Amino acid sequence: MKKQEAVEFRDLLEEMRYRLRGDVSQLTKEALGADRHDGGSESKSPTHMAELGSDTFEQDFSLSLAANEQETLTEVAAALQRIKDGTFGLCEICTKEGKSPAQSAIPKPRLRAIPYCRTCVDCARKKENVGI
Ligand SMILES: [Zn+2]
Repeated sequence: MKKQEAVEFRDLLEEMRYRLRGDVSQLTKEALGADRHDGGSESKSPTHMAELGSDTFEQDFSLSLAANEQETLTEVAAALQRIKDGTFGLCEICTKEGKSPAQSAIPKPRLRAIPYCRTCVDCARKKENVGI
């Protein structure tokens, strides 16, 4: 991938990371009931997620949403690292199979749709079909 193209994706990924970080802390705050005033839980520390239990569906939902975003955030960070390493835009599976960088390149439209994706369309499909 050309340097100029990598810079474009780096900007995109950094923007995603910035937005996701905001979302994750907001969602976690909501899930932990920072805005709730139901009282009777003074003994519980709001910073310990394990102690909170799962008394409402909304709380579970917000936390799982936050977990998904956290996962995406991890992928975005990994993609930024690949840009630094110079391996960004290469399909992990093709590379492992010993294909050349030119053969392993993930098509640009796919990268634009999912800048943090690790595999080309073919490999993603193969992965989905594993075990079927
Ligand atoms: Zn591939």
